[in-house]
Amino acid sequence: MKIIKVKGNTFCIDTGMTYIPFYKVNDEEIILLDSGWAQGEREGIDSLLEKNKFKVVGIICSHIHIDHIGNVSYFKKKYNCKIAMPAYEALICSSLINLKVYYGKQTLSEVKQHFGHMVFETDLMILEDQESINMCGIEFEILHTPGHSPAHICVTTPDDVAYVADALISYEVMKGAKMPYAFILKEDLESKEKLYDLKSSKYIVAHKGMYDEITKLIGDNIDFYKGIAESVYDVIDGAMTMEDIMKFVIKNWNIGVKSIYKYAVVEKMLKSYVEYLNETGRIKLIMDNGFLKYIKE
Ligand SMILES: [Zn+2]
Repeated sequence: MKIIKVKGNTFCIDTGMTYIPFYKVNDEEIILLDSGWAQGEREGIDSLLEKNKFKVVGIICSHIHIDHIGNVSYFKKKYNCKIAMPAYEALICSSLINLKVYYGKQTLSEVKQHFGHMVFETDLMILEDQESINMCGIEFEILHTPGHSPAHICVTTPDDVAYVADALISYEVMKGAKMPYAFILKEDLESKEKLYDLKSSKYIVAHKGMYDEITKLIGDNIDFYKGIAESVYDVIDGAMTMEDIMKFVIKNWNIGVKSIYKYAVVEKMLKSYVEYLNETGRIKLIMDNGFLKYIKE
């Protein structure tokens, strides 16, 4: 784990699997953009911050995922820092019950076990028409890019460095990803298009890239996600239930599913591609002897 200087007062922590940007308010105080994953990254991030004598005074969260907000509650307790987050996502992680609404397929006990550490109180709600946020006297610009998660945002620091978080994935991730996640793929693709207008001097992609220019990356991301949707379309043969599609994909795409938790994760991923095909009129949902099945239009 190491710190990389990006530009001016904007730096980022390279955890190995993720870039976590931060903005230096002064020699000691920093504002984090996201907080990393608890299970695999907390110890490393924590000791790196201690070694550099950094005090976290604020965290601006891009979205609700476990690998981005896993340490928010921990740092809030440790540093008493201020937390900013898109309002809709802040509500999701404001209680276990709200997390259960979001992770609907899992029981409350499972939600508590896997996501219980993601419950915290947000100090500054970022509303959907809000274009900037003042955190500890520093002004950050906000671009709303929903789709990857319900209210995902990109955050630009005063150094003109845009953190696009998970609105894009790097070429390295594309190489290994069989089915990258989107909450609502149709919206996610529209948000990716929006990024063509985001003009910054540097761009940071959470998993994991740093670029001076992202025009080609945006186009390649859109083609990549659409290509996977096309592969899911090819799977649909006759009338198939969601489970039929799931079974085919797990077997033929060599996706390792060894636990109920992993099944739920893969099901959530696949669902967004199936819904995308449905919403764009390529397939439709029908009733067949009491079962919901998808067929090609
Ligand atoms: Zn994410």
